[in-house]
Amino acid sequence: MRAWRAAFHQEPELSGQEVRTREKVLQALRELGIPATPVGNGVTGIVGLLDTPRAGPVVALRADMDALPIVERTELPFRSKRPGVMHACGHDVHMTCVLGAALLLSRHRRALGGPVKLLFQPAEEEGSRGGALPMIEGGCLERPKVDYVVGQHVDPGLPLGKLGWGIGPFMAAADFFRLTVKGRAGHASTPQQGPDAVLAASEIVTGLQALASRVRDPCDPVVVSVGSIHGGTRDNILPEEVVLEGTVRTVRPETRELLERALRRRVRGIAASLGARVGIVYRRGYPPLVNPPEATRAVVRALEVEFGRSALVEVEQPLLGAEDFSRYLEKVPGTFLRLGVGGRGAPASLHSPTFAPDEAALVIGAATLAAAAVGLQRGHG
Ligand SMILES: [Zn+2]
Ligand SMILES: [Zn+2]
Repeated sequence: MRAWRAAFHQEPELSGQEVRTREKVLQALRELGIPATPVGNGVTGIVGLLDTPRAGPVVALRADMDALPIVERTELPFRSKRPGVMHACGHDVHMTCVLGAALLLSRHRRALGGPVKLLFQPAEEEGSRGGALPMIEGGCLERPKVDYVVGQHVDPGLPLGKLGWGIGPFMAAADFFRLTVKGRAGHASTPQQGPDAVLAASEIVTGLQALASRVRDPCDPVVVSVGSIHGGTRDNILPEEVVLEGTVRTVRPETRELLERALRRRVRGIAASLGARVGIVYRRGYPPLVNPPEATRAVVRALEVEFGRSALVEVEQPLLGAEDFSRYLEKVPGTFLRLGVGGRGAPASLHSPTFAPDEAALVIGAATLAAAAVGLQRGHG
């Protein structure tokens, strides 16, 4: 498993470009004697099938494959050989864990109640269409039809050896907006001559915060952030337009609908009150990740047997990060887990140039997925 992981880590590839990574996964599956097929239109996904004569439920184990545009600053002996690209979100670990689970399960085929599918999915970090959607459209959940899907993500906030689980909203929906505020270009000393795009944009930035605090139930998490604001060239010129970009995070589908409507209304209202015009682009990203109760409980029971009750940590608050594993859960039940990789001292966070999860997590992650698959097949019906 260390060798697999080092090979993935050393040669990271960005979203949608996971060509060498796909070759390595295919090679590993060949060595394990597991047949694999490419899947997804124009993407680099793979589905492996660990078959068994038993006709029990089909469980799919999913790993994501892509890396990030980050200059690696770890001291790992197998650090990235590709300048400016790094496995800083642990997807190298995720792939290795699915391969490790396949190895375990192929050695214990008699424990399997049905086939196990191995989903290697590209482009998780891409954020809008992502890799899960083309995998699903390419039929990764069909032939044989998948009954349950299980995934996990490394979590540096959780100590090594702990597994985080939760029922209900677990991660957020992430939607994108771009607001182009139009005013009148002119001398900054004569603002009376037309709408001021800078002033209107500023009021919009502050006005949007009332969405998070006043539109929805305070117990329902919402984030509205403007992450970029561009306009103007110097102090005494009023620009014609200012462009704002931001993200809306929600965990409930109803709240997601509500926030989009409220944002459009609020932005138009503020701009109109100042005589400015505004163009709104609102794009849906990944849906919220919601863990269904029954499948999650079946997995947790299996993991308690495997690792002991103290290894399991119930996660009470959803993370407002997004993850396109949510797309599979929209189609079939299953669960998404967090794999503790926190070490001594303060572990570097995900997406940081020094992120280096503890390698001991590889075996734990593989055993977690294998136990989850067997548990779901046993608990079924
Ligand atoms: Zn990430
Ligand atoms: Zn990730």
